[in-house]
Amino acid sequence: MKHLTTFFIVVLIASAGFLGNGLYQTKIELNQTVTELLSTQNNLSQKESEILNLNSNIKDLKSQIVGYQFEIADKEREIKESENKIEELTEVTKSQEESISRLRDVLSDLDKTGNLISENYGETLILYDNSKIFELFRPLWKQVEDDEEDYTKLGIAFIYFRDESKKYEENVVLGQYNGLFDTIFIYSDTTNVKTIYHEIAHTIYKVLFQNNQNNKKIWSDLYKQLKENQLLSSQYAYTSEEEGFAEEYAYYKTGLNPNQPSAVKNMMEQIDESLR
Ligand SMILES: [Zn+2]
Repeated sequence: MKHLTTFFIVVLIASAGFLGNGLYQTKIELNQTVTELLSTQNNLSQKESEILNLNSNIKDLKSQIVGYQFEIADKEREIKESENKIEELTEVTKSQEESISRLRDVLSDLDKTGNLISENYGETLILYDNSKIFELFRPLWKQVEDDEEDYTKLGIAFIYFRDESKKYEENVVLGQYNGLFDTIFIYSDTTNVKTIYHEIAHTIYKVLFQNNQNNKKIWSDLYKQLKENQLLSSQYAYTSEEEGFAEEYAYYKTGLNPNQPSAVKNMMEQIDESLR
């Protein structure tokens, strides 16, 4: 939950973020190549049925009188052209199949070396470091996934559950959001779904508040009041307006603060409605 200094974030992006984004890119590439392959294969079978037609035409023509000889020559030229086209398409198909198998190798290598387990949540990739982490965090993620809210609307590239206990200045880091790539990391000391909601709330903040002065002012005013009256849900919420927002959203989603003011709950409810 603790946010790192800019320098530290950059280092982290370079390591973990890069691996995750690479995998995401590879998956997109794989999908595109499969689509291209399917369309080439369609073209190929179309050409093949054209040739069949032409061949049967020729048979018909040959059984008739000599005057058709020119026409036969034309048809035979068409066949030759179609056959060339088929050769071309077969080449394309072959190279597409090769690139698919190359991409699959990349993915399976990643699985072997990092035991990475992945699943899709819309356009967002959900990644787990290994089967132990998968068993641990799948139930937590399931709670979020089952929500009425469609968080894929926020454009999160991936949520990555790490087999890593992380510390920053003696504090345990549970999760981390990277606003540059819209990626979320959840670390192994996390035990509550609240952490996932907290990090998702950072993307909500970016999408709805960061570049919208009206929204920003509404939250800013509310935050000031909550702070002054000691009504924020956690100690960490006092860190900043943005962390305060992330904390309040997480407490709203989990109901962990029975005394959360209704002004906060109403605001979060409106945000959730926009995600349905
Ligand atoms: Zn945070």
